[in-house]
Amino acid sequence: MKAVLDIPDSSFLALFNMEDLVEIFCLNSGVEKPDVICLPIIDEGGAQFDSAYTSRANNMWSRYSVEKEIQNIRKKYPETKVYFSIEPTLPGIKASHLTCRDQYGAEREGVCIVNPYAQKTILDIVIEASRRFNPDGIILDTVDLHGQRSTGEGKPVDITCFCNYCKQGMQDLKFQSDLLSKRVSPLNLVLKATATGIRPLSPTPNSQFTPDQLVDFAIKEGFISEDDDQTLGWAQTIINYVRVRAKVTGSALGEICQGIKTEFPSMHVGAILNSEDFDWTGGLDLQSLAGQVDEAWLDINDLTPATVPPNIDIMAYAADRARYRIDAFFEVASDRRFLEGRLRTDTLENIVVILQERASGLEHVQNLDKTFVRSLQTMIYVHGFVGIPFSKKFSQQIITSIRDELVSILSNIQQKPSTVSKDIVRKYIATLVSFREEGNELNRREIVGLAAQMDLID
Ligand SMILES: [Zn+2]
Repeated sequence: MKAVLDIPDSSFLALFNMEDLVEIFCLNSGVEKPDVICLPIIDEGGAQFDSAYTSRANNMWSRYSVEKEIQNIRKKYPETKVYFSIEPTLPGIKASHLTCRDQYGAEREGVCIVNPYAQKTILDIVIEASRRFNPDGIILDTVDLHGQRSTGEGKPVDITCFCNYCKQGMQDLKFQSDLLSKRVSPLNLVLKATATGIRPLSPTPNSQFTPDQLVDFAIKEGFISEDDDQTLGWAQTIINYVRVRAKVTGSALGEICQGIKTEFPSMHVGAILNSEDFDWTGGLDLQSLAGQVDEAWLDINDLTPATVPPNIDIMAYAADRARYRIDAFFEVASDRRFLEGRLRTDTLENIVVILQERASGLEHVQNLDKTFVRSLQTMIYVHGFVGIPFSKKFSQQIITSIRDELVSILSNIQQKPSTVSKDIVRKYIATLVSFREEGNELNRREIVGLAAQMDLID
């Protein structure tokens, strides 16, 4: 049984010793040593090395050295392999020709892996990191490739990605993506904006679903009150979309994996999923990874031997959308730009409250114990397990450290006046005016989006 110690964010390495993390992992799982240690090379805070595309400067936790950590692992645990985890949406890289778009065409966070230019960028970065640090494997975190957003409870939900490449890919599979871009949309059957975020219908529809079944679930779970003339048509649209989306995103992921294999034929390549089902924020299911990756990390709770595609090693990973919650915490906790921007408009104590709220989502992360590991021995379709050396104490320590960092950032901000020049403000106003004159609607999203793009706000 392969034992993988996963370090999901560089804060772990900035604040704790590798030896301590290994010890916690071994104590929890009952193994003598990990077979693999997976280090975050691009995480929610950005890259951990400088290159033509990336800079470490925005990462809150750039005080540890990737080189030294790898040397340390290879010296202390010579039989242990080193993998790198990569967040393929490339946090910290802002390039409008690469980013995701929602169903209305508005630009959104993160690059879209379906875009061939984004694939090239991701590959360049992975290849450079691999040449420099020589890892044994690359793991792509796919749990949040296609972000969602709502503007409040009961409001419509924006989903991604509907960039030109995604639209073309869906059209090639005979799906008209504009079916989802109406304000009163088929998405109402399966996604609902609540006060605490977007709630998906449970279970997630798959291609075995009939439209009747989907409508029944949507009524039972309160997504719609009753069916009418259009709901069966909506249900069919959603069932088609889920199938097509998973195919488009799965083959894009395959392109990246193939690119890595072409450059490094013996490199082990894997992906992190939430579960085997289609996932709205990942845009993938386990079946769509068939033939694309060597291994998949996922919650195996509902997995059965029949649903395991051939030639993929299944690795049991943290339960209950845990990786998504981990990423949601660190997308705040590790992004220096975000924290600095927030400090300009909010109090330090309020930011700590946000961090505490996100940290509360991490309570389900630690599912690794000896009983769990022993139970896996009986499952012949499970190849190994992945554990995170995490405890509540860790997240509190991370928050305390961020608080200290924020105090020092705050004193810098107070000393340094804003450096926005009058020229940039003039250019911003001129751009808004010409955008309006071209007949576009100028709403809050466009105004704020352009200001962020021109670095007027964070
Ligand atoms: Zn796209």
